[in-house]
Amino acid sequence: MILIVDDKPENIFSLKTILELHSFPTDTASSGEEALKKILRNSYALIILDVQMPHMDGFEVAEAISGYSKARDVPIIFLSAVSTDKKFITRGYTSGGTDYITKPIDTDILLLKVKTFYRLYEQNRELNEIQASLRSEIEFRKKVQAEILERANELHSILESIPQIAFTTRADGNIEYVNREWLRYSSSGHAFPSIHPDEEDLALQWGRAVASGEPLELELRMRRKDQEQYRFYLLRAMPVKEGQKIVKWVGTFTDIEDQKEAVRKKDEFISIASHELKTPLTTIKAYVQLLERDMEETNPVKTYVERTLIQVRKLDNLIADLLDISKIESGKLKFNKHSFRFAPILSNAIEMIGQTYADYTIVRKGDAEVDLYGDEIRIEQVILNYLSNAVKYSPDIKEIEIETSVTKDNHLYVAVKDFGIGIGKENQAHIFSKFYRVEDTANRFQGLGIGLYICAEIIRRHQGKYGVESEPGHGSLFYFSIPLKRSAGGNEPTGAAEAPLTNS
Ligand code: ADP
Repeated sequence: MILIVDDKPENIFSLKTILELHSFPTDTASSGEEALKKILRNSYALIILDVQMPHMDGFEVAEAISGYSKARDVPIIFLSAVSTDKKFITRGYTSGGTDYITKPIDTDILLLKVKTFYRLYEQNRELNEIQASLRSEIEFRKKVQAEILERANELHSILESIPQIAFTTRADGNIEYVNREWLRYSSSGHAFPSIHPDEEDLALQWGRAVASGEPLELELRMRRKDQEQYRFYLLRAMPVKEGQKIVKWVGTFTDIEDQKEAVRKKDEFISIASHELKTPLTTIKAYVQLLERDMEETNPVKTYVERTLIQVRKLDNLIADLLDISKIESGKLKFNKHSFRFAPILSNAIEMIGQTYADYTIVRKGDAEVDLYGDEIRIEQVILNYLSNAVKYSPDIKEIEIETSVTKDNHLYVAVKDFGIGIGKENQAHIFSKFYRVEDTANRFQGLGIGLYICAEIIRRHQGKYGVESEPGHGSLFYFSIPLKRSAGGNEPTGAAEAPLTNS
Protein backbone atom coordinates (compact mmCIF):
# COMPACT_ATOMS: atom_id res chain seq x y z
CA MET A 1 0.00 0.00 0.00
CA ILE A 2 1.16 3.54 -0.80
CA LEU A 3 0.70 6.35 1.73
CA ILE A 4 0.03 9.80 0.24
CA VAL A 5 0.74 12.66 2.66
CA ASP A 6 -0.42 16.16 1.64
CA ASP A 7 -2.27 18.96 3.42
CA LYS A 8 -4.24 19.81 0.27
CA PRO A 9 -7.21 17.52 -0.37
CA GLU A 10 -7.18 18.28 -4.14
CA ASN A 11 -3.56 17.11 -4.39
CA ILE A 12 -4.41 13.92 -2.45
CA PHE A 13 -7.41 13.31 -4.67
CA SER A 14 -5.53 13.65 -7.94
CA LEU A 15 -2.58 11.46 -6.78
CA LYS A 16 -4.94 8.83 -5.35
CA THR A 17 -6.93 8.73 -8.63
CA ILE A 18 -3.82 8.30 -10.78
CA LEU A 19 -2.36 5.54 -8.59
CA GLU A 20 -5.57 3.58 -8.16
CA LEU A 21 -6.17 3.78 -11.88
CA HIS A 22 -2.92 1.81 -12.17
CA SER A 23 -4.03 -0.66 -9.51
CA PHE A 24 -1.87 0.58 -6.64
CA PRO A 25 -3.72 0.40 -3.31
CA THR A 26 -3.44 3.71 -1.44
CA ASP A 27 -3.94 5.31 1.94
CA THR A 28 -3.89 9.03 2.75
CA ALA A 29 -2.89 11.43 5.52
CA SER A 30 -3.50 15.19 5.50
CA SER A 31 -0.75 16.15 7.95
CA GLY A 32 2.66 15.01 9.12
CA GLU A 33 1.25 14.02 12.54
CA GLU A 34 -1.51 11.89 11.02
CA ALA A 35 1.03 10.27 8.68
CA LEU A 36 3.28 9.29 11.59
CA LYS A 37 0.35 7.74 13.47
CA LYS A 38 -0.64 5.71 10.41
CA ILE A 39 2.94 4.60 9.77
CA LEU A 40 3.13 3.24 13.30
CA ARG A 41 -0.04 1.22 12.80
CA ASN A 42 0.30 -0.01 9.20
CA SER A 43 2.93 -1.25 6.79
CA TYR A 44 3.51 0.72 3.59
CA ALA A 45 5.45 -0.10 0.49
CA LEU A 46 6.06 3.58 -0.38
CA ILE A 47 5.36 7.02 1.08
CA ILE A 48 4.70 10.04 -1.16
CA LEU A 49 5.38 13.01 1.06
CA ASP A 50 4.55 16.67 0.38
CA VAL A 51 7.37 18.92 1.57
CA GLN A 52 5.39 22.10 2.28
CA MET A 53 2.95 21.35 5.03
CA PRO A 54 1.98 23.51 8.06
CA HIS A 55 3.19 22.47 11.59
CA MET A 56 5.46 19.62 10.48
CA ASP A 57 7.01 19.79 7.05
CA GLY A 58 7.88 16.77 4.91
CA PHE A 59 11.57 16.76 5.95
CA GLU A 60 10.65 16.62 9.62
CA VAL A 61 8.21 13.78 8.95
CA ALA A 62 10.93 11.86 7.06
CA GLU A 63 13.41 12.41 9.87
CA ALA A 64 10.89 11.09 12.38
CA ILE A 65 10.19 8.05 10.19
CA SER A 66 13.91 7.23 10.03
CA GLY A 67 13.74 6.76 13.80
CA TYR A 68 11.08 4.05 13.53
CA SER A 69 12.63 0.65 13.09
CA LYS A 70 9.44 -0.56 11.45
CA ALA A 71 9.36 2.04 8.67
CA ARG A 72 13.03 2.99 8.42
CA ASP A 73 13.49 1.24 5.10
CA VAL A 74 10.24 2.34 3.42
CA PRO A 75 11.16 4.49 0.38
CA ILE A 76 9.97 8.09 0.44
CA ILE A 77 9.32 10.30 -2.60
CA PHE A 78 9.19 14.03 -1.77
CA LEU A 79 6.76 16.25 -3.63
CA SER A 80 7.82 19.85 -3.86
CA ALA A 81 6.65 22.89 -5.71
CA VAL A 82 9.72 24.87 -4.85
CA SER A 83 13.44 24.79 -4.90
CA THR A 84 15.07 22.03 -6.76
CA ASP A 85 18.45 23.46 -5.99
CA LYS A 86 21.24 21.39 -4.51
CA LYS A 87 20.54 22.39 -0.90
CA PHE A 88 16.95 21.24 -1.09
CA ILE A 89 17.86 17.95 -2.69
CA THR A 90 20.55 17.32 -0.07
CA ARG A 91 18.15 18.01 2.78
CA GLY A 92 15.65 15.69 1.18
CA TYR A 93 18.11 12.81 1.01
CA THR A 94 19.67 13.35 4.44
CA SER A 95 16.26 13.42 6.07
CA GLY A 96 15.60 9.90 4.77
CA GLY A 97 14.04 10.42 1.34
CA THR A 98 14.77 8.18 -1.55
CA ASP A 99 13.67 10.39 -4.41
CA TYR A 100 11.81 13.57 -5.18
CA ILE A 101 9.36 14.95 -7.73
CA THR A 102 8.56 18.59 -8.37
CA LYS A 103 5.17 20.05 -8.96
CA PRO A 104 3.38 20.24 -11.29
CA ILE A 105 3.59 16.48 -11.37
CA ASP A 106 4.46 14.70 -14.56
CA THR A 107 2.18 11.66 -14.29
CA ASP A 108 4.37 9.42 -16.41
CA ILE A 109 7.46 10.17 -14.37
CA LEU A 110 5.53 9.68 -11.13
CA LEU A 111 4.18 6.30 -12.28
CA LEU A 112 7.61 5.17 -13.44
CA LYS A 113 9.12 6.00 -10.07
CA VAL A 114 6.24 4.47 -8.12
CA LYS A 115 6.43 1.27 -10.18
CA THR A 116 10.19 1.03 -9.65
CA PHE A 117 9.94 1.56 -5.89
CA TYR A 118 7.00 -0.75 -5.63
CA ARG A 119 8.86 -3.49 -7.44
CA LEU A 120 11.92 -2.90 -5.30
CA TYR A 121 9.74 -3.06 -2.23
CA GLU A 122 8.21 -6.37 -3.34
CA GLN A 123 11.63 -7.86 -4.11
CA ASN A 124 12.94 -6.59 -0.81
CA ARG A 125 10.03 -8.13 1.03
CA GLU A 126 10.56 -11.49 -0.68
CA LEU A 127 14.27 -11.37 0.10
CA ASN A 128 13.48 -10.59 3.72
CA GLU A 129 11.07 -13.50 3.89
CA ILE A 130 13.66 -15.86 2.39
CA GLN A 131 16.26 -14.53 4.77
CA ALA A 132 13.95 -15.01 7.75
CA SER A 133 13.09 -18.58 6.77
CA LEU A 134 16.79 -19.36 6.15
CA ARG A 135 17.63 -17.93 9.54
CA SER A 136 15.00 -20.04 11.27
CA GLU A 137 16.17 -23.12 9.31
CA ILE A 138 19.74 -22.46 10.45
CA GLU A 139 18.53 -22.00 14.03
CA PHE A 140 16.56 -25.24 13.82
CA ARG A 141 19.54 -27.14 12.44
CA LYS A 142 21.81 -25.71 15.08
CA LYS A 143 19.35 -26.82 17.76
CA VAL A 144 19.04 -30.32 16.30
CA GLN A 145 22.82 -30.60 16.02
CA ALA A 146 23.22 -29.48 19.62
CA GLU A 147 20.64 -32.07 20.70
CA ILE A 148 22.38 -34.83 18.72
CA LEU A 149 25.70 -33.86 20.25
CA GLU A 150 24.18 -33.84 23.70
CA ARG A 151 22.62 -37.27 23.16
CA ALA A 152 25.88 -38.65 21.75
CA ASN A 153 27.78 -37.27 24.77
CA GLU A 154 25.24 -38.82 27.10
CA LEU A 155 25.55 -42.19 25.33
CA HIS A 156 29.35 -41.98 25.38
CA SER A 157 29.43 -41.29 29.12
CA ILE A 158 27.18 -44.31 29.69
CA LEU A 159 29.39 -46.49 27.48
CA GLU A 160 32.47 -45.14 29.27
CA SER A 161 31.04 -46.13 32.65
CA ILE A 162 30.27 -49.80 31.88
CA PRO A 163 32.86 -52.55 32.34
CA GLN A 164 32.29 -53.95 28.84
CA ILE A 165 34.10 -53.05 25.65
CA ALA A 166 31.70 -50.69 23.88
CA PHE A 167 31.50 -48.97 20.54
CA THR A 168 29.17 -47.15 18.18
CA THR A 169 29.29 -47.11 14.41
CA ARG A 170 27.65 -45.09 11.70
CA ALA A 171 24.75 -46.60 9.78
CA ASP A 172 27.24 -48.01 7.23
CA GLY A 173 29.05 -49.94 9.99
CA ASN A 174 32.16 -47.74 10.17
CA ILE A 175 33.29 -47.23 13.76
CA GLU A 176 32.71 -43.71 15.07
CA TYR A 177 33.29 -44.11 18.81
CA VAL A 178 35.01 -46.62 21.12
CA ASN A 179 35.28 -46.54 24.91
CA ARG A 180 38.51 -46.74 26.88
CA GLU A 181 38.14 -50.49 27.48
CA TRP A 182 38.26 -51.08 23.70
CA LEU A 183 41.82 -49.76 23.53
CA ARG A 184 43.06 -52.58 25.79
CA TYR A 185 42.10 -54.97 22.97
CA SER A 186 42.70 -53.01 19.79
CA SER A 187 45.48 -50.56 19.02
CA SER A 188 43.14 -48.53 16.85
CA GLY A 189 39.82 -46.88 17.54
CA HIS A 190 38.87 -47.64 13.93
CA ALA A 191 39.49 -51.38 13.74
CA PHE A 192 37.85 -54.28 15.58
CA PRO A 193 40.06 -56.14 18.08
CA SER A 194 41.74 -59.16 16.57
CA ILE A 195 40.08 -62.46 17.37
CA HIS A 196 41.17 -66.10 17.66
CA PRO A 197 42.50 -67.40 14.31
CA ASP A 198 39.91 -70.21 14.32
CA GLU A 199 36.97 -67.77 14.47
CA GLU A 200 35.32 -66.51 11.31
CA ASP A 201 36.61 -63.08 10.26
CA LEU A 202 34.84 -60.49 12.43
CA ALA A 203 34.82 -57.75 9.79
CA LEU A 204 32.99 -60.17 7.45
CA GLN A 205 30.41 -61.10 10.08
CA TRP A 206 29.96 -57.45 10.99
CA GLY A 207 29.48 -56.52 7.33
CA ARG A 208 26.74 -59.15 7.02
CA ALA A 209 24.95 -57.90 10.15
CA VAL A 210 25.04 -54.30 8.93
CA ALA A 211 23.71 -55.33 5.52
CA SER A 212 20.87 -57.30 7.12
CA GLY A 213 19.93 -54.50 9.54
CA GLU A 214 19.21 -57.15 12.20
CA PRO A 215 20.65 -57.17 15.74
CA LEU A 216 23.81 -59.24 16.06
CA GLU A 217 24.63 -61.70 18.84
CA LEU A 218 27.84 -63.61 18.57
CA GLU A 219 30.19 -65.59 20.81
CA LEU A 220 33.86 -65.33 19.93
CA ARG A 221 37.33 -65.62 21.43
CA MET A 222 39.50 -62.51 21.84
CA ARG A 223 42.44 -61.51 24.00
CA ARG A 224 43.74 -58.32 25.51
CA LYS A 225 46.74 -56.76 23.80
CA ASP A 226 48.89 -57.46 26.85
CA GLN A 227 47.76 -61.09 27.33
CA GLU A 228 48.49 -64.36 25.61
CA GLN A 229 45.34 -66.21 26.54
CA TYR A 230 42.10 -65.96 24.60
CA ARG A 231 38.78 -65.64 26.45
CA PHE A 232 35.19 -65.97 25.29
CA TYR A 233 33.23 -62.75 24.67
CA LEU A 234 29.65 -62.12 23.72
CA LEU A 235 29.33 -59.48 21.02
CA ARG A 236 25.94 -57.82 20.98
CA ALA A 237 25.13 -55.01 18.56
CA MET A 238 21.81 -53.25 18.07
CA PRO A 239 20.78 -50.91 15.26
CA VAL A 240 19.53 -47.51 16.49
CA LYS A 241 16.62 -46.35 14.38
CA GLU A 242 14.96 -43.01 13.72
CA GLY A 243 11.57 -43.98 12.30
CA GLN A 244 12.38 -46.85 9.95
CA LYS A 245 15.90 -45.69 9.16
CA ILE A 246 18.99 -47.06 10.89
CA VAL A 247 21.12 -44.10 12.00
CA LYS A 248 23.80 -45.89 13.96
CA TRP A 249 24.78 -49.12 15.73
CA VAL A 250 25.65 -49.56 19.39
CA GLY A 251 27.59 -52.64 20.44
CA THR A 252 29.31 -54.25 23.42
CA PHE A 253 31.67 -57.16 24.00
CA THR A 254 31.06 -58.87 27.35
CA ASP A 255 33.53 -61.29 28.90
CA ILE A 256 31.61 -64.58 29.30
CA GLU A 257 34.60 -66.85 29.93
CA ASP A 258 33.63 -67.49 33.57
CA GLN A 259 30.03 -68.31 32.61
CA LYS A 260 31.29 -70.65 29.88
CA GLU A 261 33.63 -72.31 32.35
CA ALA A 262 30.78 -72.78 34.87
CA VAL A 263 28.59 -74.35 32.16
CA ARG A 264 31.49 -76.59 31.11
CA LYS A 265 31.99 -77.74 34.71
CA LYS A 266 28.27 -78.35 35.19
CA ASP A 267 28.09 -80.42 31.99
CA GLU A 268 31.15 -82.35 33.07
CA PHE A 269 29.61 -83.00 36.49
CA ILE A 270 26.32 -84.19 34.96
CA SER A 271 28.21 -86.49 32.64
CA ILE A 272 30.37 -88.02 35.40
CA ALA A 273 27.51 -88.25 37.92
CA SER A 274 25.10 -89.92 35.51
CA HIS A 275 27.74 -92.42 34.38
CA GLU A 276 28.64 -93.25 37.99
CA LEU A 277 24.97 -93.64 38.99
CA LYS A 278 24.08 -95.74 35.99
CA THR A 279 26.16 -98.82 36.89
CA PRO A 280 24.91 -99.46 40.46
CA LEU A 281 21.37 -98.65 39.39
CA THR A 282 21.47 -101.19 36.58
CA THR A 283 22.51 -103.82 39.12
CA ILE A 284 19.76 -102.76 41.57
CA LYS A 285 17.19 -102.87 38.77
CA ALA A 286 18.25 -106.35 37.72
CA TYR A 287 18.03 -107.71 41.27
CA VAL A 288 14.67 -106.09 42.01
CA GLN A 289 13.31 -107.47 38.71
CA LEU A 290 14.53 -110.95 39.67
CA LEU A 291 13.05 -110.58 43.12
CA GLU A 292 9.69 -109.52 41.72
CA ARG A 293 9.63 -112.34 39.17
CA ASP A 294 10.47 -115.02 41.71
CA MET A 295 8.00 -113.91 44.35
CA GLU A 296 4.72 -115.67 44.89
CA GLU A 297 1.68 -113.57 44.00
CA THR A 298 0.38 -114.15 47.51
CA ASN A 299 3.51 -112.85 49.18
CA PRO A 300 2.46 -109.66 51.08
CA VAL A 301 5.88 -108.06 50.38
CA LYS A 302 5.41 -108.33 46.58
CA THR A 303 3.52 -104.99 46.30
CA TYR A 304 6.45 -103.24 48.01
CA VAL A 305 8.86 -104.79 45.56
CA GLU A 306 6.63 -103.72 42.63
CA ARG A 307 6.52 -100.17 43.94
CA THR A 308 10.30 -100.21 44.37
CA LEU A 309 10.64 -101.33 40.76
CA ILE A 310 8.43 -98.43 39.54
CA GLN A 311 10.65 -95.94 41.39
CA VAL A 312 13.82 -97.64 40.14
CA ARG A 313 12.50 -97.35 36.55
CA LYS A 314 11.82 -93.63 37.09
CA LEU A 315 15.34 -93.17 38.39
CA ASP A 316 16.67 -95.14 35.45
CA ASN A 317 14.81 -92.86 32.99
CA LEU A 318 16.12 -89.78 34.74
CA ILE A 319 19.70 -90.98 34.54
CA ALA A 320 19.19 -91.97 30.90
CA ASP A 321 17.98 -88.40 30.20
CA LEU A 322 20.99 -86.90 31.95
CA LEU A 323 23.27 -89.16 29.93
CA ASP A 324 21.49 -88.05 26.75
CA ILE A 325 22.10 -84.42 27.68
CA SER A 326 25.83 -85.08 28.09
CA LYS A 327 25.88 -86.86 24.75
CA ILE A 328 24.07 -83.99 23.01
CA GLU A 329 26.57 -81.53 24.52
CA SER A 330 29.55 -83.53 23.33
CA GLY A 331 27.99 -84.30 19.95
CA LYS A 332 27.93 -88.02 20.79
CA LEU A 333 24.19 -88.70 20.71
CA LYS A 334 24.10 -91.52 18.22
CA PHE A 335 21.15 -92.79 16.20
CA ASN A 336 20.59 -96.31 15.02
CA LYS A 337 18.58 -95.57 11.90
CA HIS A 338 16.74 -98.12 9.80
CA SER A 339 13.30 -98.54 8.20
CA PHE A 340 10.46 -99.44 10.56
CA ARG A 341 6.66 -99.46 10.77
CA PHE A 342 5.36 -96.66 12.91
CA ALA A 343 1.98 -98.10 14.06
CA PRO A 344 3.43 -100.71 16.50
CA ILE A 345 5.71 -98.08 18.06
CA LEU A 346 2.73 -95.82 18.66
CA SER A 347 0.57 -98.65 20.10
CA ASN A 348 3.40 -99.70 22.38
CA ALA A 349 3.93 -96.16 23.73
CA ILE A 350 0.19 -95.70 24.35
CA GLU A 351 0.01 -99.05 26.11
CA MET A 352 2.98 -98.26 28.36
CA ILE A 353 1.53 -94.91 29.45
CA GLY A 354 -1.94 -96.47 29.80
CA GLN A 355 -0.54 -99.15 32.14
CA THR A 356 1.47 -96.72 34.23
CA TYR A 357 -1.36 -94.20 34.54
CA ALA A 358 -4.42 -96.43 34.57
CA ASP A 359 -6.77 -93.58 35.58
CA TYR A 360 -6.07 -91.68 32.30
CA THR A 361 -7.89 -92.32 29.01
CA ILE A 362 -5.81 -91.97 25.87
CA VAL A 363 -7.92 -91.37 22.76
CA ARG A 364 -6.17 -92.32 19.54
CA LYS A 365 -7.13 -90.60 16.26
CA GLY A 366 -5.99 -90.82 12.66
CA ASP A 367 -3.86 -93.09 10.53
CA ALA A 368 -0.47 -94.39 11.68
CA GLU A 369 0.14 -97.11 9.08
CA VAL A 370 3.28 -95.60 7.60
CA ASP A 371 6.90 -96.54 7.18
CA LEU A 372 9.58 -94.32 8.66
CA TYR A 373 13.28 -94.25 8.39
CA GLY A 374 15.07 -93.42 11.65
CA ASP A 375 15.76 -94.58 15.17
CA GLU A 376 12.53 -96.19 16.37
CA ILE A 377 13.57 -96.21 20.05
CA ARG A 378 14.29 -92.50 19.92
CA ILE A 379 11.00 -91.73 18.13
CA GLU A 380 9.17 -93.78 20.76
CA GLN A 381 11.06 -91.81 23.43
CA VAL A 382 9.61 -88.56 22.01
CA ILE A 383 6.05 -89.93 22.05
CA LEU A 384 6.48 -91.27 25.60
CA ASN A 385 7.81 -87.90 26.69
CA TYR A 386 4.94 -85.97 25.13
CA LEU A 387 2.41 -88.41 26.63
CA SER A 388 3.89 -88.47 30.13
CA ASN A 389 4.09 -84.65 30.15
CA ALA A 390 0.42 -84.54 29.07
CA VAL A 391 -0.44 -86.75 32.05
CA LYS A 392 1.80 -84.86 34.47
CA TYR A 393 0.53 -81.39 33.53
CA SER A 394 -3.20 -82.21 33.49
CA PRO A 395 -3.89 -83.46 36.98
CA ASP A 396 -7.64 -82.71 36.81
CA ILE A 397 -8.89 -83.70 33.35
CA LYS A 398 -7.76 -87.23 32.75
CA GLU A 399 -8.22 -87.47 29.02
CA ILE A 400 -5.47 -87.21 26.43
CA GLU A 401 -5.74 -87.30 22.64
CA ILE A 402 -3.05 -88.46 20.28
CA GLU A 403 -3.58 -87.77 16.61
CA THR A 404 -1.49 -88.92 13.68
CA SER A 405 -1.74 -88.02 10.00
CA VAL A 406 0.29 -87.76 6.83
CA THR A 407 0.88 -84.22 5.58
CA LYS A 408 0.82 -83.05 1.97
CA ASP A 409 4.60 -82.82 1.92
CA ASN A 410 4.90 -86.49 2.97
CA HIS A 411 5.62 -86.10 6.64
CA LEU A 412 4.19 -88.05 9.53
CA TYR A 413 2.50 -85.58 11.87
CA VAL A 414 1.96 -86.58 15.51
CA ALA A 415 0.11 -84.37 18.02
CA VAL A 416 -0.49 -85.02 21.70
CA LYS A 417 -3.26 -82.93 23.20
CA ASP A 418 -4.13 -82.50 26.85
CA PHE A 419 -6.67 -80.37 28.68
CA GLY A 420 -4.42 -79.42 31.57
CA ILE A 421 -2.70 -76.32 32.93
CA GLY A 422 -1.45 -75.03 29.55
CA ILE A 423 1.55 -72.75 28.94
CA GLY A 424 1.66 -68.95 28.58
CA LYS A 425 2.87 -67.44 25.27
CA GLU A 426 5.99 -65.99 26.89
CA ASN A 427 7.14 -69.47 27.98
CA GLN A 428 6.26 -71.39 24.83
CA ALA A 429 9.36 -70.22 22.98
CA HIS A 430 11.65 -71.55 25.75
CA ILE A 431 10.25 -74.88 26.87
CA PHE A 432 12.32 -76.86 24.33
CA SER A 433 15.48 -75.32 25.83
CA LYS A 434 17.77 -77.14 28.20
CA PHE A 435 16.70 -77.06 31.89
CA TYR A 436 13.83 -74.68 31.17
CA ARG A 437 10.77 -75.11 33.38
CA VAL A 438 7.79 -72.76 33.66
CA GLU A 439 8.55 -70.94 36.88
CA ASP A 440 4.99 -70.46 38.17
CA THR A 441 4.28 -74.20 38.10
CA ALA A 442 7.76 -75.64 38.73
CA ASN A 443 7.06 -76.24 42.43
CA ARG A 444 3.84 -78.15 41.81
CA PHE A 445 5.29 -80.66 39.34
CA GLN A 446 8.52 -82.61 39.64
CA GLY A 447 11.00 -82.53 36.79
CA LEU A 448 14.35 -81.33 35.51
CA GLY A 449 13.33 -79.53 32.34
CA ILE A 450 15.33 -81.75 30.00
CA GLY A 451 12.75 -84.06 28.39
CA LEU A 452 11.59 -81.61 25.71
CA TYR A 453 15.17 -80.52 25.01
CA ILE A 454 16.08 -84.12 24.19
CA CYS A 455 12.89 -84.52 22.09
CA ALA A 456 13.81 -81.41 20.10
CA GLU A 457 17.30 -82.78 19.40
CA ILE A 458 15.89 -86.16 18.32
CA ILE A 459 13.37 -84.56 15.95
CA ARG A 460 15.98 -82.19 14.52
CA ARG A 461 18.28 -85.15 13.88
CA HIS A 462 15.42 -86.78 11.93
CA GLN A 463 15.08 -83.62 9.79
CA GLY A 464 11.72 -82.94 11.40
CA LYS A 465 9.86 -80.10 13.02
CA TYR A 466 8.35 -79.74 16.47
CA GLY A 467 6.33 -77.18 18.44
CA VAL A 468 3.57 -76.39 20.86
CA GLU A 469 0.20 -74.64 20.78
CA SER A 470 -1.26 -73.81 24.13
CA GLU A 471 -3.43 -71.55 26.20
CA PRO A 472 -3.06 -71.31 29.96
CA GLY A 473 -5.89 -73.14 31.72
CA HIS A 474 -7.08 -74.82 28.51
CA GLY A 475 -4.40 -77.41 27.83
CA SER A 476 -1.59 -77.87 25.34
CA LEU A 477 -0.95 -79.52 22.01
CA PHE A 478 2.60 -80.76 21.45
CA TYR A 479 3.43 -81.89 17.92
CA PHE A 480 6.25 -83.10 15.75
CA SER A 481 6.54 -84.12 12.13
CA ILE A 482 9.22 -86.17 10.40
CA PRO A 483 9.67 -87.20 6.77
CA LEU A 484 8.17 -90.55 5.73
CA LYS A 485 10.48 -93.22 4.43
CA ARG A 486 11.06 -92.55 0.76
CA SER A 487 10.28 -95.45 -1.52
CA ALA A 488 13.30 -97.30 -3.02
CA GLY A 489 15.49 -96.42 -0.06
CA GLY A 490 15.75 -92.70 -0.88
CA ASN A 491 16.63 -91.21 2.50
CA GLU A 492 18.72 -93.95 4.01
CA PRO A 493 22.28 -92.71 3.59
CA THR A 494 22.09 -90.31 6.58
CA GLY A 495 21.37 -93.19 8.92
CA ALA A 496 23.90 -95.55 7.43
CA ALA A 497 26.66 -93.22 8.56
CA GLU A 498 25.38 -93.13 12.15
CA ALA A 499 26.84 -95.48 14.77
CA PRO A 500 24.43 -97.78 16.59
CA LEU A 501 22.77 -96.46 19.72
CA THR A 502 24.51 -97.42 22.93
CA ASN A 503 23.43 -96.90 26.47
CA SER A 504 26.77 -96.09 27.97
P1 ADP B 1 9.99 -81.37 32.96
O1 ADP B 1 8.59 -81.78 32.70
O2 ADP B 1 10.84 -82.46 33.53
O3 ADP B 1 10.10 -80.11 33.72
P2 ADP B 1 10.26 -81.00 30.07
O4 ADP B 1 11.46 -80.65 29.28
O5 ADP B 1 9.53 -82.24 29.67
O6 ADP B 1 10.72 -81.06 31.58
O7 ADP B 1 9.25 -79.79 30.00
C1 ADP B 1 9.74 -78.48 30.19
C2 ADP B 1 8.65 -77.59 30.78
O8 ADP B 1 7.59 -77.42 29.84
C3 ADP B 1 7.97 -78.19 31.99
O9 ADP B 1 8.68 -77.87 33.17
C4 ADP B 1 6.61 -77.52 31.97
O10 ADP B 1 6.70 -76.25 32.57
C5 ADP B 1 6.34 -77.35 30.48
N1 ADP B 1 5.48 -78.39 29.92
C6 ADP B 1 5.86 -79.49 29.22
N2 ADP B 1 4.80 -80.19 28.81
C7 ADP B 1 3.70 -79.54 29.25
C8 ADP B 1 2.29 -79.76 29.16
N3 ADP B 1 1.79 -80.81 28.49
N4 ADP B 1 1.46 -78.85 29.74
C9 ADP B 1 1.96 -77.79 30.40
N5 ADP B 1 3.28 -77.54 30.52
C10 ADP B 1 4.13 -78.39 29.96
